[in-house]
Amino acid sequence: MSENKPLDFKSLGLSEDLLSSLKKLGYEKPTPIQSESIPLALMGRDVLGCAQTGTGKTASFVLPIIDILNSQKSKARMPRCLILSPTRELADQISEYFKKISKYHKLSVSLLIGGTQLGDQDKELNKGVDILIATPGRLIDHINRGNILFNDLKILVIDEADRMLDMGFIPDIEFICSKLPKIRQTLFFSATLSKEIVKIGKKFVINPKLVEVSPPSSTSNSISQKLVKCNNKNKLSLLENILFSLDTQNTVIFCNRKKDIDFLSKNLMKKNFQTIP
Ligand code: AMP
Repeated sequence: MSENKPLDFKSLGLSEDLLSSLKKLGYEKPTPIQSESIPLALMGRDVLGCAQTGTGKTASFVLPIIDILNSQKSKARMPRCLILSPTRELADQISEYFKKISKYHKLSVSLLIGGTQLGDQDKELNKGVDILIATPGRLIDHINRGNILFNDLKILVIDEADRMLDMGFIPDIEFICSKLPKIRQTLFFSATLSKEIVKIGKKFVINPKLVEVSPPSSTSNSISQKLVKCNNKNKLSLLENILFSLDTQNTVIFCNRKKDIDFLSKNLMKKNFQTIP
């Protein structure tokens, strides 16, 4: 966080109601992603945010959304905010977070995720929902059944965009966005901002402000790190050489896509390594 950033929630421009909710939750000061994103979101700017889980990124969009939407009510089937999440679990966490923070507000929050009856969700939509938190597949089901109208949509949040990419959801997000008003505010968050993610993000935002914060924790002192530069072609053979030369019992390898894990696991097994993908 840059040194001239405000260090208390009040200076971010949040309402008194929210400030007292935050006090009750025991939040003393905003995290870096909150200091950067909240004033921009309250100004109506689009945000391309790079923040991992644990940095307080959920509150960085939940808090301004509450203040932006608080003065009005949604009409039946016309949510004013849509939050897209790659998984049911994350959608559920965001919903719980809204409920915790907006206890003293009258905003209605609804979850559209798989594993719940479409009919029950339809009844909720009909009552009028301010904030809709959805996974792409289930939302598309409702869109195709004509259960939702987006004419009144003001804010779109795309959360964990890099996971959306890994899970093959980008075409779904494109379809959903084609149904939304062009004039809206979009907050796009990803744990990493690779060139690919920035390119995808730019399809959904207009003149965004880029916000990046460093990861919440640094590497433990007991772990030594090395960087090996290589090109895509010799990556696998280089990894195999490193594994052969290391005198270790167990190794953990992180990849950024499921398909890379499968590929690596199959190839390492061919070289007699035991792997658990
Ligand atoms: P997140 O990165 O959104 O998953 O948040 C991680 C955790 O940090 C959650 O348990 C939040 O309740 C908590 N948290 C978020 N913002 C703050 C803050 N400003 N002060 C203290 N805890 C916070």
